[in-house]
Amino acid sequence: MSTVQPVMSLEGVSKSFGSVTAVDDLSLTLEEGEFFALLGPSGCGKTTLLRVLAGFEMPDRGSVRLDGADITSLRANRRPVNLMFQSYALFPHMTVRSNVRYGLEMEKLPAPEIDRRVGEVLERTQLEEMANRKPDQLSGGQRQRVALARALVKRPRVLLLDEPLAALDKKLREEMQLELKRLQHDVGITFVVVTHDQGEALVMADRVALMKDGCIEQLGAPRDLYEHPQTRFVADFIGTTNLFEGRVAVGGVQLDGHGLLKADNEAETPVGEPAVIVVRPERITLHVKARPKTANAVKGTIADIAYHGQDLNVHVAVSGAGRHVQVRISTAQETSATYRIGQSVWCAWNPEHGRMLTR
Ligand code: ATP
Repeated sequence: MSTVQPVMSLEGVSKSFGSVTAVDDLSLTLEEGEFFALLGPSGCGKTTLLRVLAGFEMPDRGSVRLDGADITSLRANRRPVNLMFQSYALFPHMTVRSNVRYGLEMEKLPAPEIDRRVGEVLERTQLEEMANRKPDQLSGGQRQRVALARALVKRPRVLLLDEPLAALDKKLREEMQLELKRLQHDVGITFVVVTHDQGEALVMADRVALMKDGCIEQLGAPRDLYEHPQTRFVADFIGTTNLFEGRVAVGGVQLDGHGLLKADNEAETPVGEPAVIVVRPERITLHVKARPKTANAVKGTIADIAYHGQDLNVHVAVSGAGRHVQVRISTAQETSATYRIGQSVWCAWNPEHGRMLTR
Protein backbone atom coordinates (compact mmCIF):
# COMPACT_ATOMS: atom_id res chain seq x y z
CA MET A 1 0.00 0.00 0.00
CA SER A 2 1.28 3.43 -0.90
CA THR A 3 1.78 5.87 1.96
CA VAL A 4 1.69 8.82 -0.43
CA GLN A 5 -1.19 11.16 0.31
CA PRO A 6 -3.26 12.75 -2.44
CA VAL A 7 -2.64 16.47 -2.41
CA MET A 8 -5.27 17.35 -4.97
CA SER A 9 -8.05 15.42 -6.64
CA LEU A 10 -10.73 15.86 -9.24
CA GLU A 11 -13.92 13.85 -9.14
CA GLY A 12 -16.20 13.59 -12.18
CA VAL A 13 -15.20 17.01 -13.54
CA SER A 14 -16.84 18.24 -16.76
CA LYS A 15 -16.40 21.59 -18.48
CA SER A 16 -18.01 22.72 -21.73
CA PHE A 17 -17.74 25.88 -23.79
CA GLY A 18 -20.98 26.12 -25.78
CA SER A 19 -21.26 22.86 -27.67
CA VAL A 20 -17.58 21.90 -27.09
CA THR A 21 -16.93 19.53 -24.20
CA ALA A 22 -13.36 20.43 -23.18
CA VAL A 23 -13.21 18.13 -20.13
CA ASP A 24 -15.54 15.16 -19.93
CA ASP A 25 -16.38 13.50 -16.59
CA LEU A 26 -12.73 13.29 -15.57
CA SER A 27 -11.34 12.03 -12.26
CA LEU A 28 -7.74 12.35 -11.21
CA THR A 29 -5.61 12.19 -8.06
CA LEU A 30 -2.33 14.07 -7.68
CA GLU A 31 0.13 12.68 -5.17
CA GLU A 32 2.24 14.66 -2.75
CA GLY A 33 5.57 15.68 -4.27
CA GLU A 34 5.09 14.10 -7.69
CA PHE A 35 5.91 15.51 -11.10
CA PHE A 36 2.75 14.99 -13.12
CA ALA A 37 2.37 15.66 -16.84
CA LEU A 38 -0.87 16.31 -18.73
CA LEU A 39 -0.09 15.28 -22.27
CA GLY A 40 -2.17 15.24 -25.41
CA PRO A 41 -2.82 16.69 -28.85
CA SER A 42 -4.03 20.23 -29.39
CA GLY A 43 -7.60 20.72 -28.20
CA CYS A 44 -7.79 17.61 -25.98
CA GLY A 45 -8.56 19.72 -22.89
CA LYS A 46 -5.19 19.91 -21.09
CA THR A 47 -5.21 23.66 -20.52
CA THR A 48 -8.84 23.66 -19.44
CA LEU A 49 -8.06 20.96 -16.90
CA LEU A 50 -5.09 22.97 -15.61
CA ARG A 51 -7.29 26.05 -15.30
CA VAL A 52 -9.87 24.04 -13.35
CA LEU A 53 -7.10 22.96 -10.94
CA ALA A 54 -5.96 26.59 -10.66
CA GLY A 55 -9.47 27.91 -10.05
CA PHE A 56 -9.59 30.09 -13.19
CA GLU A 57 -12.30 27.87 -14.63
CA MET A 58 -15.31 26.58 -12.67
CA PRO A 59 -16.35 23.05 -13.63
CA ASP A 60 -19.95 22.55 -14.81
CA ARG A 61 -20.04 19.32 -12.82
CA GLY A 62 -17.81 17.49 -10.38
CA SER A 63 -15.57 18.54 -7.52
CA VAL A 64 -12.02 19.68 -6.83
CA ARG A 65 -10.34 18.78 -3.53
CA LEU A 66 -7.15 20.01 -1.95
CA ASP A 67 -5.78 18.11 1.06
CA GLY A 68 -9.21 16.52 1.39
CA ALA A 69 -11.19 19.81 1.53
CA ASP A 70 -13.68 20.68 -1.20
CA ILE A 71 -12.36 23.81 -2.96
CA THR A 72 -14.54 23.59 -6.09
CA SER A 73 -15.95 27.08 -5.63
CA LEU A 74 -12.82 28.67 -4.16
CA ARG A 75 -11.47 31.41 -6.43
CA ALA A 76 -7.94 31.17 -7.90
CA ASN A 77 -6.41 33.82 -5.66
CA ARG A 78 -7.67 32.00 -2.55
CA ARG A 79 -6.07 28.68 -3.52
CA PRO A 80 -2.57 27.69 -2.38
CA VAL A 81 -1.97 26.71 -5.99
CA ASN A 82 0.10 28.70 -8.47
CA LEU A 83 -0.21 28.74 -12.24
CA MET A 84 2.90 29.65 -14.24
CA PHE A 85 1.83 31.07 -17.57
CA GLN A 86 3.45 30.17 -20.87
CA SER A 87 4.37 33.85 -21.42
CA TYR A 88 5.93 34.00 -17.91
CA ALA A 89 4.07 37.32 -17.35
CA LEU A 90 7.08 39.01 -15.70
CA PHE A 91 6.90 42.72 -14.84
CA PRO A 92 9.26 44.33 -17.39
CA HIS A 93 10.01 47.45 -15.34
CA MET A 94 11.02 45.49 -12.22
CA THR A 95 14.31 43.74 -11.45
CA VAL A 96 14.50 40.00 -11.05
CA ARG A 97 14.54 40.39 -7.27
CA SER A 98 11.49 42.70 -7.28
CA ASN A 99 9.62 40.34 -9.57
CA VAL A 100 10.27 37.51 -7.11
CA ARG A 101 9.47 39.68 -4.03
CA TYR A 102 6.21 40.97 -5.42
CA GLY A 103 3.98 38.05 -4.45
CA LEU A 104 5.19 38.01 -0.86
CA GLU A 105 4.83 41.79 -0.54
CA MET A 106 1.23 41.44 -1.66
CA GLU A 107 0.77 38.96 1.19
CA LYS A 108 2.16 41.66 3.52
CA LEU A 109 4.68 39.33 5.11
CA PRO A 110 7.32 40.84 7.45
CA ALA A 111 10.32 42.23 5.51
CA PRO A 112 12.94 39.91 7.11
CA GLU A 113 10.90 36.85 6.13
CA ILE A 114 10.49 38.15 2.58
CA ASP A 115 14.26 38.79 2.34
CA ARG A 116 15.05 35.30 3.60
CA ARG A 117 12.62 33.49 1.32
CA VAL A 118 13.55 35.51 -1.77
CA GLY A 119 17.25 34.90 -1.05
CA GLU A 120 16.67 31.16 -0.75
CA VAL A 121 14.71 30.93 -3.98
CA LEU A 122 17.18 33.06 -5.97
CA GLU A 123 19.94 30.77 -4.80
CA ARG A 124 18.02 27.63 -5.67
CA THR A 125 17.21 28.87 -9.15
CA GLN A 126 20.76 30.21 -9.65
CA LEU A 127 19.59 33.77 -10.20
CA GLU A 128 21.54 35.55 -7.47
CA GLU A 129 24.07 37.04 -9.86
CA MET A 130 21.39 38.57 -12.04
CA ALA A 131 19.02 39.65 -9.27
CA ASN A 132 19.38 43.32 -10.19
CA ARG A 133 18.76 42.89 -13.90
CA LYS A 134 15.46 43.48 -15.64
CA PRO A 135 13.74 40.76 -17.69
CA ASP A 136 14.87 42.21 -21.04
CA GLN A 137 18.49 41.76 -19.92
CA LEU A 138 18.02 38.01 -19.52
CA SER A 139 18.08 35.03 -21.88
CA GLY A 140 14.93 32.98 -22.49
CA GLY A 141 16.10 30.27 -20.11
CA GLN A 142 16.88 32.83 -17.39
CA ARG A 143 13.48 34.49 -17.78
CA GLN A 144 11.92 31.08 -17.39
CA ARG A 145 13.83 30.60 -14.14
CA VAL A 146 12.58 33.97 -12.85
CA ALA A 147 9.00 32.91 -13.54
CA LEU A 148 9.69 29.68 -11.65
CA ALA A 149 11.33 31.53 -8.75
CA ARG A 150 8.34 33.85 -8.53
CA ALA A 151 5.97 30.91 -8.34
CA LEU A 152 8.09 28.85 -5.91
CA VAL A 153 8.68 31.67 -3.45
CA LYS A 154 4.98 31.53 -2.57
CA ARG A 155 5.44 27.88 -1.53
CA PRO A 156 2.29 26.63 -3.21
CA ARG A 157 0.91 23.17 -2.42
CA VAL A 158 0.78 22.57 -6.15
CA LEU A 159 2.56 24.38 -8.99
CA LEU A 160 0.81 24.27 -12.34
CA LEU A 161 2.89 24.97 -15.43
CA ASP A 162 1.35 25.57 -18.86
CA GLU A 163 3.82 24.52 -21.59
CA PRO A 164 6.69 25.89 -19.47
CA LEU A 165 9.41 25.23 -22.03
CA ALA A 166 7.52 26.13 -25.22
CA ALA A 167 9.31 29.46 -25.69
CA LEU A 168 12.80 27.93 -25.62
CA ASP A 169 14.81 26.52 -28.49
CA LYS A 170 15.36 22.77 -28.73
CA LYS A 171 18.76 22.50 -27.04
CA LEU A 172 17.86 24.79 -24.17
CA ARG A 173 14.52 23.02 -23.79
CA GLU A 174 16.29 19.71 -23.30
CA GLU A 175 18.58 21.23 -20.66
CA MET A 176 15.66 22.87 -18.89
CA GLN A 177 13.70 19.60 -18.81
CA LEU A 178 16.36 18.12 -16.57
CA GLU A 179 16.75 21.32 -14.59
CA LEU A 180 13.02 21.55 -13.96
CA LYS A 181 12.96 17.94 -12.83
CA ARG A 182 15.92 18.53 -10.48
CA LEU A 183 14.31 21.67 -9.07
CA GLN A 184 11.01 19.90 -8.50
CA HIS A 185 12.81 17.09 -6.73
CA ASP A 186 14.72 19.56 -4.52
CA VAL A 187 11.69 21.61 -3.46
CA GLY A 188 9.37 18.60 -3.17
CA ILE A 189 6.34 20.57 -4.39
CA THR A 190 3.81 18.75 -6.60
CA PHE A 191 4.25 19.97 -10.20
CA VAL A 192 1.62 19.58 -12.91
CA VAL A 193 2.97 20.35 -16.36
CA VAL A 194 0.88 20.68 -19.51
CA THR A 195 2.69 19.68 -22.66
CA HIS A 196 1.91 18.41 -26.13
CA ASP A 197 5.47 17.07 -26.44
CA GLN A 198 5.56 13.40 -25.55
CA GLY A 199 9.35 13.33 -25.28
CA GLU A 200 9.24 16.11 -22.73
CA ALA A 201 6.57 14.35 -20.66
CA LEU A 202 8.52 11.08 -20.67
CA VAL A 203 11.76 12.77 -19.56
CA MET A 204 10.32 14.92 -16.79
CA ALA A 205 7.31 13.27 -15.26
CA ASP A 206 6.85 10.60 -12.62
CA ARG A 207 3.37 9.99 -14.03
CA VAL A 208 1.76 11.00 -17.28
CA ALA A 209 -1.93 11.34 -18.13
CA LEU A 210 -2.42 11.11 -21.88
CA MET A 211 -5.64 12.93 -22.78
CA LYS A 212 -7.94 12.59 -25.76
CA ASP A 213 -11.25 14.39 -26.32
CA GLY A 214 -11.50 15.65 -22.73
CA CYS A 215 -10.83 12.25 -21.15
CA ILE A 216 -7.76 10.45 -19.85
CA GLU A 217 -6.92 7.75 -22.35
CA GLN A 218 -4.19 6.22 -20.18
CA LEU A 219 -2.43 7.23 -16.97
CA GLY A 220 0.83 5.76 -15.75
CA ALA A 221 4.58 5.99 -15.39
CA PRO A 222 6.33 6.97 -18.64
CA ARG A 223 7.71 3.45 -19.10
CA ASP A 224 4.25 2.02 -18.63
CA LEU A 225 2.77 4.15 -21.39
CA TYR A 226 5.66 3.41 -23.71
CA GLU A 227 5.89 -0.32 -23.11
CA HIS A 228 2.29 -1.18 -22.30
CA PRO A 229 0.02 1.11 -24.30
CA GLN A 230 -3.61 0.09 -23.88
CA THR A 231 -4.97 1.64 -27.07
CA ARG A 232 -3.73 2.43 -30.55
CA PHE A 233 -3.98 6.11 -29.78
CA VAL A 234 -1.50 5.74 -26.88
CA ALA A 235 0.83 3.51 -28.89
CA ASP A 236 0.85 6.03 -31.71
CA PHE A 237 1.14 9.17 -29.61
CA ILE A 238 3.99 7.98 -27.39
CA GLY A 239 7.19 7.42 -29.33
CA THR A 240 7.49 5.87 -32.75
CA THR A 241 5.62 2.66 -33.24
CA ASN A 242 4.88 -0.05 -35.79
CA LEU A 243 1.31 -1.26 -36.09
CA PHE A 244 0.60 -4.55 -37.86
CA GLU A 245 -3.10 -4.70 -38.71
CA GLY A 246 -4.78 -8.08 -38.70
CA ARG A 247 -7.39 -10.16 -36.90
CA VAL A 248 -7.47 -11.80 -33.50
CA ALA A 249 -6.40 -15.45 -33.69
CA VAL A 250 -5.61 -18.03 -31.03
CA GLY A 251 -2.30 -16.83 -29.48
CA GLY A 252 -1.94 -13.63 -31.44
CA VAL A 253 -2.90 -11.74 -34.56
CA GLN A 254 -3.33 -13.27 -38.00
CA LEU A 255 -1.74 -11.03 -40.61
CA ASP A 256 -2.70 -11.51 -44.27
CA GLY A 257 0.24 -12.97 -46.17
CA HIS A 258 2.47 -13.27 -43.08
CA GLY A 259 0.76 -15.81 -40.85
CA LEU A 260 0.38 -15.64 -37.10
CA LEU A 261 2.16 -12.94 -35.11
CA LYS A 262 2.33 -13.96 -31.47
CA ALA A 263 1.61 -11.40 -28.77
CA ASP A 264 2.60 -11.06 -25.12
CA ASN A 265 -0.99 -10.47 -24.01
CA GLU A 266 -4.44 -12.00 -24.42
CA ALA A 267 -7.01 -10.49 -26.77
CA GLU A 268 -9.95 -8.71 -25.18
CA THR A 269 -12.19 -9.45 -28.14
CA PRO A 270 -13.20 -12.71 -29.88
CA VAL A 271 -11.25 -14.47 -32.62
CA GLY A 272 -11.77 -12.82 -36.01
CA GLU A 273 -12.17 -9.25 -34.69
CA PRO A 274 -9.77 -6.54 -35.97
CA ALA A 275 -6.56 -6.19 -33.93
CA VAL A 276 -3.07 -4.78 -34.22
CA ILE A 277 0.31 -5.90 -32.99
CA VAL A 278 2.37 -2.96 -31.72
CA VAL A 279 6.17 -3.23 -31.87
CA ARG A 280 8.69 -0.49 -31.13
CA PRO A 281 11.37 0.14 -33.80
CA GLU A 282 14.25 -0.66 -31.43
CA ARG A 283 12.82 -4.13 -30.75
CA ILE A 284 12.99 -5.26 -34.36
CA THR A 285 16.09 -6.86 -35.84
CA LEU A 286 16.82 -7.22 -39.54
CA HIS A 287 17.93 -10.48 -41.14
CA VAL A 288 19.09 -10.74 -44.72
CA LYS A 289 19.90 -14.42 -45.18
CA ALA A 290 17.19 -16.63 -43.70
CA ARG A 291 14.01 -16.32 -41.72
CA PRO A 292 15.17 -16.15 -38.11
CA LYS A 293 13.91 -18.65 -35.57
CA THR A 294 12.21 -15.87 -33.62
CA ALA A 295 8.49 -16.55 -33.58
CA ASN A 296 7.56 -13.24 -35.20
CA ALA A 297 8.97 -12.32 -38.57
CA VAL A 298 7.61 -10.52 -41.61
CA LYS A 299 9.33 -10.23 -44.95
CA GLY A 300 9.74 -6.95 -46.78
CA THR A 301 11.97 -4.73 -48.87
CA ILE A 302 14.14 -1.89 -47.61
CA ALA A 303 12.59 1.34 -48.83
CA ASP A 304 14.72 3.91 -47.08
CA ILE A 305 17.73 4.23 -44.78
CA ALA A 306 18.25 7.29 -42.63
CA TYR A 307 21.46 7.88 -40.71
CA HIS A 308 20.96 9.81 -37.47
CA GLY A 309 24.42 9.63 -35.94
CA GLN A 310 23.74 7.44 -32.95
CA ASP A 311 21.31 5.25 -34.85
CA LEU A 312 20.19 4.10 -38.23
CA ASN A 313 16.49 4.18 -39.14
CA VAL A 314 15.64 1.58 -41.73
CA HIS A 315 12.19 1.74 -43.37
CA VAL A 316 10.91 -1.54 -44.70
CA ALA A 317 7.98 -1.92 -47.07
CA VAL A 318 5.93 -4.90 -45.93
CA SER A 319 2.83 -6.02 -47.82
CA GLY A 320 -0.28 -5.59 -45.69
CA ALA A 321 1.35 -3.07 -43.31
CA GLY A 322 -0.28 0.32 -43.89
CA ARG A 323 2.96 2.26 -43.59
CA HIS A 324 6.62 1.35 -43.71
CA VAL A 325 7.90 -0.73 -40.84
CA GLN A 326 10.50 1.31 -38.95
CA VAL A 327 13.55 -0.41 -37.54
CA ARG A 328 16.03 1.43 -35.34
CA ILE A 329 19.52 0.01 -35.23
CA SER A 330 22.05 1.51 -32.84
CA THR A 331 25.17 2.41 -34.82
CA ALA A 332 27.23 1.25 -31.82
CA GLN A 333 25.79 -2.25 -32.26
CA GLU A 334 25.65 -2.25 -36.03
CA THR A 335 27.07 -5.44 -37.46
CA SER A 336 29.16 -5.58 -40.59
CA ALA A 337 25.95 -6.11 -42.55
CA THR A 338 25.42 -3.17 -44.86
CA TYR A 339 21.88 -2.51 -45.85
CA ARG A 340 20.83 -1.09 -49.14
CA ILE A 341 17.59 0.15 -50.60
CA GLY A 342 15.72 -2.57 -52.50
CA GLN A 343 17.19 -5.38 -50.41
CA SER A 344 14.89 -8.17 -49.14
CA VAL A 345 14.93 -8.51 -45.38
CA TRP A 346 13.15 -10.25 -42.56
CA CYS A 347 11.95 -7.99 -39.77
CA ALA A 348 11.92 -10.13 -36.62
CA TRP A 349 11.14 -9.62 -32.96
CA ASN A 350 10.64 -11.60 -29.84
CA PRO A 351 6.89 -12.14 -29.13
CA GLU A 352 7.26 -10.58 -25.68
CA HIS A 353 7.90 -7.26 -27.43
CA GLY A 354 4.71 -7.40 -29.47
CA ARG A 355 1.53 -6.13 -27.85
CA MET A 356 -1.90 -6.94 -29.19
CA LEU A 357 -4.45 -4.11 -29.12
CA THR A 358 -8.06 -4.34 -30.06
CA ARG A 359 -9.09 -0.74 -29.39
P1 ATP B 1 -3.68 23.26 -26.89
O1 ATP B 1 -2.57 22.27 -26.73
O2 ATP B 1 -3.94 23.62 -28.31
O3 ATP B 1 -3.57 24.44 -25.98
P2 ATP B 1 -5.52 21.95 -25.07
O4 ATP B 1 -5.39 20.49 -25.01
O5 ATP B 1 -4.90 22.73 -23.97
O6 ATP B 1 -5.03 22.48 -26.49
P3 ATP B 1 -7.95 23.34 -24.37
O7 ATP B 1 -7.32 24.69 -24.53
O8 ATP B 1 -8.22 22.90 -23.00
O9 ATP B 1 -7.07 22.25 -25.12
O10 ATP B 1 -9.28 23.32 -25.21
C1 ATP B 1 -10.15 22.21 -25.28
C2 ATP B 1 -11.32 22.55 -26.17
O11 ATP B 1 -12.11 23.58 -25.56
C3 ATP B 1 -10.91 23.10 -27.53
O12 ATP B 1 -11.82 22.61 -28.50
C4 ATP B 1 -11.03 24.59 -27.37
O13 ATP B 1 -11.30 25.23 -28.59
C5 ATP B 1 -12.19 24.72 -26.39
N1 ATP B 1 -12.05 25.91 -25.54
C6 ATP B 1 -11.12 26.12 -24.58
N2 ATP B 1 -11.30 27.30 -23.95
C7 ATP B 1 -12.38 27.88 -24.53
C8 ATP B 1 -13.10 29.12 -24.32
N3 ATP B 1 -12.71 29.98 -23.38
N4 ATP B 1 -14.14 29.34 -25.11
C9 ATP B 1 -14.54 28.46 -26.05
N5 ATP B 1 -13.93 27.29 -26.30
C10 ATP B 1 -12.86 26.98 -25.55
